[in-house]
Amino acid sequence: MSEQRPDIATPKRTQEIVRRHGITMKKSLGQNFLIDRNVLAKIVGAAELDANRGALEIGPGIGALTEQLARAAGKVMAIEIDQRLLPVLAETLADYGNVKVVHGDVLKLPLRELMEKELSGCEEVSVVANLPYYVTTPIIMKLLEEKLPLANIVVMIQKEVAERMAAAPGSKDYGSLSVAVQYYCVPELVTIVPHTVFIPQPQVDSAVIRLALRAQPPVEVEDEKFFFEVVQAAFAQRRKTLGNNMLARFFGKEGRDEMNRLLEELAIDPGRRGETLSIAEFAKLANALYLRQKG
Ligand code: SAM
Repeated sequence: MSEQRPDIATPKRTQEIVRRHGITMKKSLGQNFLIDRNVLAKIVGAAELDANRGALEIGPGIGALTEQLARAAGKVMAIEIDQRLLPVLAETLADYGNVKVVHGDVLKLPLRELMEKELSGCEEVSVVANLPYYVTTPIIMKLLEEKLPLANIVVMIQKEVAERMAAAPGSKDYGSLSVAVQYYCVPELVTIVPHTVFIPQPQVDSAVIRLALRAQPPVEVEDEKFFFEVVQAAFAQRRKTLGNNMLARFFGKEGRDEMNRLLEELAIDPGRRGETLSIAEFAKLANALYLRQKG
């Protein structure tokens, strides 16, 4: 058996690979490569992989996380947008027969079909990634809204975004992203990561967050799209009251009395701010507004 090569995620090996292939990291693609094996171990551990699990990685870079996933999971599919990294990955992952690298933009690819093709036979699939920060939210929302068959999503993201995803009602970080993520998942902050564990170092600190997919949403809504419209409207102007935000979006100037009656029936004070409403209250409000509109 050939001797296992040293891990990619060390400053020395990363620099050697990048230099030999003449790669300059592109800030526009969020290229910050991980060089810390302890952080990688935390990410991989949080995903609870085993030989029956598949891992979907978004943005493998030069393969630092991918090789750890290849060791821990049954199969790995890694989607990378940057063509320059394909020959690098072919070299760094040559020892792992269970990895498939797919070239493309994760936001544009048919993920369900790709999962069926490349991760067939896996009992469950986890998304595990050190995400490019410029597209974190669109990527997470695509994974959730397409209702992909995932067990969990473990991602390194900007610390502030992780805090918003996990925020509880009433806190300053709570907003439409918290409601959207918590409608589909149970979030858990795994660890905070300093910016020193990347090459090049990003400006901000990061966090690893684990999103365990719910079997069912925690609330029943008449219409999902409309529910999220109401949530967006409630946070449209954060300094405005819930009543004023609802008035602007759903009732118009003349509708204040009607709106007050509706909120009173739901036992929701129009003077509250959107950030104090629980998901259950948003569902109650959205359902009432939906039935009123349907008329
Ligand atoms: N996984 C590597 C690591 O941890 O060292 C690299 C992570 S780096 C933060 C993000 C990676 O995502 C880069 O390799 C970048 O080229 C890739 N990327 C950026 N936008 C992407 C997109 N829309 N679709 C797929 N990959 C993308």
